[in-house]
Order: sequence, then structure tokens, then C-alpha cells
Amino acid sequence: MNYIQGMSTAPSSTDQKPPSPSERAARQKEIVAALGRHLPAHALLWNAEDTTPYECDGLTAYRQRPLVVALPETEEQVQAVLRVCHGLEVPVVARGAGTGLSGGAMPHALGVTLSLAKFNRILEVDPVGRTARVQCGVRNLAISEAAAPHNLYYAPDPSSQIACTIGGNVAENSGGVHCLKYGLTVHNVLRVRGFTIEGDPITLGSEALDVPGYDLLAAMIGSEGMLAVALEVTVKLIPSRSSRAASWRASTMCAKPVTRWPQ
Ligand SMILES: Cc1cc2nc3c(=O)[nH]c(=O)nc-3n(C[C@H](O)[C@H](O)[C@H](O)COP(=O)(O)OP(=O)(O)OC[C@H]3O[C@@H](n4cnc5c(N)ncnc54)[C@H](O)[C@@H]3O)c2cc1C
Repeated sequence: MNYIQGMSTAPSSTDQKPPSPSERAARQKEIVAALGRHLPAHALLWNAEDTTPYECDGLTAYRQRPLVVALPETEEQVQAVLRVCHGLEVPVVARGAGTGLSGGAMPHALGVTLSLAKFNRILEVDPVGRTARVQCGVRNLAISEAAAPHNLYYAPDPSSQIACTIGGNVAENSGGVHCLKYGLTVHNVLRVRGFTIEGDPITLGSEALDVPGYDLLAAMIGSEGMLAVALEVTVKLIPSRSSRAASWRASTMCAKPVTRWPQ
């Protein structure tokens, strides 16, 4: 069994057979030893007091402490976690801010929770191309804050936007009221770069308007973390209302007929 676990419905109590304490302890020791060869000590949590904060997402009725929480800081470390877990047949559950309401980030009793909280950098805002390239752990609202000096913003606005991450938005195809006009995450993301569950690099979409071949980006967006781990996301930016009003005023002023020439 090896997969990124994300569930669109509440997990039933029969989904996961509880492991015996000795089975759990032995598996935990094995995984910590294997991951410890690739991650620094502070990037691995396995004691109950450290893993309890990860036992559920926004669907708090269901709780399960993960065997191990990995908090990688580099892409190489993410790749190593995925490769090691694939080799050991350990389920991996990606986690952004844990605000999901469908149990997608709910841990597996014998699995690794892959927290992407440290991937929180805005890599580039391109005001001319109206795009932003950000790491997966960047908060939804932080994208609009970074784009605001250019009178631009990122349109999909889940009510949790102050906390939820763009990686979680991609996995859940999230949206809010702006989506009535500008579409959901799937309509506002150009490109996703990350790793497959085997740890192979993958890029879906492009910064161009369209790419040849199957629209795998649309399959990835809304896949609840089941298809790949997103590490870098390129989003479209929309002119904010004030800049649209200014350009409208400018265009109407330019369009005004000249009725009187200066003498
Ligand atoms: C108060 C509140 C209001 C909300 N309002 C809205 C709303 O208006 N609209 C809406 O759509 N949702 C809403 N939500 C739900 C939730 O905020 C969204 O689904 C959000 O996109 C989850 O983001 P997250 O970073 O918290 O992801 P998490 O909860 O951590 O994870 C969600 C899923 O994404 C996967 N995942 C996370 N990061 C990655 C990654 N980098 N690569 C691959 N998979 C990943 C996880 O495995 C999981 O399956 C709300 C939640 C709360 C608590």
C-alpha cells in the first residue's frame, strides 16, 4: 500500500484497522531511522505530544495521530521522504494548513504526515504577465497581499484564506465568492510543479496560455492530494477594482471629444 491519502468524504471507522501498540512502535522506529538519514532531527516528530496537533484537520470529529510527521525544508528532503516511504510501503498524507473540511489531511495510523508548512515563500510576482509563482505553503491571502502594490490580486477566496495554503487550495479546488465571476482554483492556476508519490519530479500546465496534450493540470486540481505533492504553484492575477476603475476613468477621459481648442 503506497499512496497519498486524501479523502473526499469522512473516513469511516472501518477504513483503518487500528495497529497494535507493538506493531506501531516497530514501524515507527523503522520509519524514523530511514527518514533520519535524509532529514535533520528537528524536521521529524514522532512523540505523542508532538504529533497530536496533526491528528485532524478542520473535520475535527475524526482524529488519528500519525506515526511520524515530517517537516521538510527543501525539495530534496520532500523527494527523499517520498522515495523512502515508497520503498517502505508507508502511506503519505500531504498537509498544508489543516483547514480542510473533508478529512483530506487526516493522518493514517501507520503513515507519515508530510507537512509542507515550511514552503512558504513567494518566489515571483510578475505584474506585466499578471502571474505569481509561489511555494505550496504560502497562504491564499498572502498572494493577494504580495500582488497588491501592483494593483493585482489572486481571485479565488475561500473564507479560510487567512490561513489555508495554495497547495491545499489546489488539492481541494477551493473557492469563495469571487469564483462566481472569476472561476475556481482550476481556472486561476497556470502551472503546478511537484513530485509524484514515487518521488519523481512532475510539472503540470505551463506559464503559456495553453499546453499541448491532456489537461492533467485540471485532473490534479481537486484531486485531494491523491495524484502528486504540489511544491510550486503559478497563479493568475486579476486587476483589482481600484486599478480597473482608474483605467476606465482614463479611457473615458481619452475618449471624450475635444469640444474647444485653446485660443
Ligand atoms: C473556517 C473555514 C472556512 C472555509 N471556507 C472555505 C471556502 O469558502 N471555500 C472552500 O473551498 N473551502 C473552504 N474551507 C476549507 C479549506 O480551507 C480549503 O479546502 C483549503 O483549500 C484547505 O487548505 P489547507 O492548506 O488547509 O489544506 P489541508 O487541510 O492541509 O489539506 C487539504 C487537502 O489538500 C492536500 N494537500 C495539502 N497541501 C498539499 C500539497 N502541497 N500537495 C498536494 N496535496 C496537498 C491534503 O492532503 C488534503 O487532502 C474552509 C475551512 C474552514 C476551516
